[in-house]
Amino acid sequence: MLKGYKYRLHPTAAQAEFLIRTIGCARFIYNKLLEDRIAIHEEAKVSGGPKRKPPTPASYKPLFPFLCEADSLALANAKLHLDTAFAKFFAGTAGFPVFKSRRKARASYTTNNQHGTIRIEEDRVRLPKVGFIRFTQHRSFDGEIRSATVSMTRSGTFFVSLLVEQDDEPWVPAEHKVGIDLGLGYFAVMTNDAFVTEKIPNPRNLRKAEGRLKQAQRALSRKKPGSRNREKTRLLLAKKHEQVKNRRHDFLHKLSRHIVDENQVVVVETLRTREMMQDRRLAKSIGDAGWGEFVRQLEYKCRSHGRTLIKADPWFASTQVCSSCGENGGKKGLDIREWTCAACGAHHDRDVNASLNLLRLADRNTSGQGLPDELGP
Ligand SMILES: [Zn+2]
Repeated sequence: MLKGYKYRLHPTAAQAEFLIRTIGCARFIYNKLLEDRIAIHEEAKVSGGPKRKPPTPASYKPLFPFLCEADSLALANAKLHLDTAFAKFFAGTAGFPVFKSRRKARASYTTNNQHGTIRIEEDRVRLPKVGFIRFTQHRSFDGEIRSATVSMTRSGTFFVSLLVEQDDEPWVPAEHKVGIDLGLGYFAVMTNDAFVTEKIPNPRNLRKAEGRLKQAQRALSRKKPGSRNREKTRLLLAKKHEQVKNRRHDFLHKLSRHIVDENQVVVVETLRTREMMQDRRLAKSIGDAGWGEFVRQLEYKCRSHGRTLIKADPWFASTQVCSSCGENGGKKGLDIREWTCAACGAHHDRDVNASLNLLRLADRNTSGQGLPDELGP
């Protein structure tokens, strides 16, 4: 099993300069190869003859000598990334590869471990051509490092993601099953098979920080383009955005970890987020909530820990059905927080009732292969 570990890097000024240059070279090769492949295709179309062979990263070196300074594995990986982008395009799963812009594209390069060229010694990580860079290793690991991806955020912070070959984690069955209702009032309302309900408040990280971000954004637009002040403000703003993002990720990681630790079967609602995003009032809170990222984390954590994740069909009427008698009481507006079932008289908290309905799916379907027919639309 391959697992990724991401750490903050603390390069010296000279090392940072090298990293930035290598990121630039990888992007240059990617764009150059893309440009040439398009040209080769056009030539063949005009001449009708066979296509000439696409160039390799190394073949650009005589023409662009600055490439010789860079880590050649980073250039080779840039080509692999382009190959993957084309493969996705031809498989119909992605659009035509686009050129990487210096401003918009993710600033990163990937290099490989060749017999210890990437390794950790105390508080430093060694990378090819750079040598040892100081880093914060908050979490250690066992296993062999396969590759390293160096990335730089918009505020100029460096990270390294190490891809490590590891033994599979031992499978420890958990005790419970849980139904999770995702919402705006509470981020999640979860009821397990011991009928213990946990309500997780929405952290609203983005909203709290939003006032400050807006202020910074306004300050930025007042600065003269290209001025030193503008660059300073842009940096500040990028840092704040990153802070908010990190805090949100932290929250989601802790919550998904907690769920996977305690439950063997997890049922979660898949929301029709795109549809809901069209409601502008809701869109802000939804974008903030990060449900998609949460479900993604549950998915891979369940997989690596031998748990069963059941994603309820978006059309599953978790809020409409009475969890006591099964009667479908019809649609309920978002403002209705509590209701009484007309059929059996049970009084329900909207979110708890929904999580109970989701929990029931765990018993009907523990194979994780979609919903049984009777629960479909
Ligand atoms: Zn009822």
